[in-house]
Amino acid sequence: MQFNGIDMCNGFIGLVFYRLRATARTLCFLPLLVCAAGASAQQVAPVRFLLTFDDGPDVGPNSLTVKIQQQLADNPVMPGIKALFFVQSAHKIRGGSDAGRQLMRDTCTGGHVLGLHSGTPRGHVTHPSLAPDELAESLVQGKLAIEQQCPHGAAFVRPPDWAYTDATLAAYQNAGIEMLQADASANDGKIYGWIVSLRRRSHLRSSLERVAQVRAAGQLPEVDGALPVIVALHDTNSYTAEHMTEYLHILVEESAAIGLPLASAPFYANRDALARAAHVRAQKQLYVCDKTALSTPIAVRLGFKEGDTRRGCF
Ligand SMILES: [Zn+2]
Repeated sequence: MQFNGIDMCNGFIGLVFYRLRATARTLCFLPLLVCAAGASAQQVAPVRFLLTFDDGPDVGPNSLTVKIQQQLADNPVMPGIKALFFVQSAHKIRGGSDAGRQLMRDTCTGGHVLGLHSGTPRGHVTHPSLAPDELAESLVQGKLAIEQQCPHGAAFVRPPDWAYTDATLAAYQNAGIEMLQADASANDGKIYGWIVSLRRRSHLRSSLERVAQVRAAGQLPEVDGALPVIVALHDTNSYTAEHMTEYLHILVEESAAIGLPLASAPFYANRDALARAAHVRAQKQLYVCDKTALSTPIAVRLGFKEGDTRRGCF
């Protein structure tokens, strides 16, 4: 039921369209509920959250990236969480600085996975807006920059502003790197973060309700006995860094509240397992469609900037 679901569920923004979106989302759910009636809860594996962070690394004496990684390592929900960090590998105040390179090295040494967000010194520029040669070169250089700090290299790309086209997808394939979007977002990107963070619990809960419906329909792929659900956050957001442990609580507690079964280890704790899960999800290119697209700038959503932000929806 992707057809209009892509556009109807994710396609627009603004209060004027809120009711339309809500109605459309309800319509999208109906087929899943029918499917769910035929699926046994016992047969469906539990969920494991795959945390991803965009835009970093955040450098400086009070690095937000470090602050987040400290909380992932040491928290009362599940110590030792590993995550996937999509970096801006060449921007002078991100991965293109000595401190940024050191942080990428530390992230790798800490057992996390590095992915590519942007490989151009221009930084956070959408991939469809780059000339084909520039994009191809940025992917090559981005992968190289990550490999130089991390022997595991970069297997995944999260395009800035989620924007992509058939041409950029082909460029990723040529570069040997897989696009990974997300199922749920904290909406902590620079445009919406200040609004949505105020109602982060209710926002994530509604995303998890959508995850539960897709799970009940048996549509989420199983990897190593769990269903990986990709969560998008930003390690350059000070609010996120201040509240990382709270986000972990919210994900687990709201899942329990809505009856969404989680694996005994509700987050990834192993780099290889995380990479396997990301690979399976990237191969399918189907995602739980909810409010993630709200992270997309209005200019892209309204067509003033080039880019296709529609995603395949379960
Ligand atoms: Zn970004």
